[in-house]
Amino acid sequence: MLRRLGADAVEVRKPEQLDGLDGLVVPGGESTTFMRLMRLYGLDEALRTFAGPVFGTCAGMIVLDRGHLDLMDLEVDRNAYGRQVASFEADLRLGNDEQPLRGVFIRAPRVRDHGPEVEVLAEHDGEPVLLRQGRFLVASFHPELTEDTRVHEMFLDRVREAAQPPVRVSGPVEGVRGNREVPPAESTSGYRSVNVRT
Ligand code: GLN
Repeated sequence: MLRRLGADAVEVRKPEQLDGLDGLVVPGGESTTFMRLMRLYGLDEALRTFAGPVFGTCAGMIVLDRGHLDLMDLEVDRNAYGRQVASFEADLRLGNDEQPLRGVFIRAPRVRDHGPEVEVLAEHDGEPVLLRQGRFLVASFHPELTEDTRVHEMFLDRVREAAQPPVRVSGPVEGVRGNREVPPAESTSGYRSVNVRT
């Protein structure tokens, strides 16, 4: 989805692979395994010093909370909707958008508590499921599993805003966000590419 939106996305498994990146996605998966492997490779410390925008989905949201890497003022309960069979989909309201956002919840975490600096961007049954705190964006669902690009666009907007001149230039990016044309950048050198590590 990030590539479709014009980002240069690469995989990160080791701390040094974070160098030069403009943003980071901590994806869904299994948070206990993530934590174990991150500790083993020193990626936990590397994540603490990474200064760019971070987008966590599901397990990625869990590892950013107070009880794990403690990068967000958030407390999350793992697997709080029950077993795998209790996974579900639901339409969410995103800001003032007419069009609902389809949320795919797979053994999703539930937000038990969050601090005043955390902004709730979407809820399900009155509970926050999409939240932002400064450069951190987290979703308890999986926005990458639908065709709706709005959440990823939100993240990439932040990445583009925060991006330093790129370390690796991969040529002009597509310049398309979702269905909208992105106006050309101010500079005559064309679009700035965005490096995002997943
Ligand atoms: N249940 C997983 C965990 O606790 C998260 C599931 C997911 O990322 N879809 O880490």
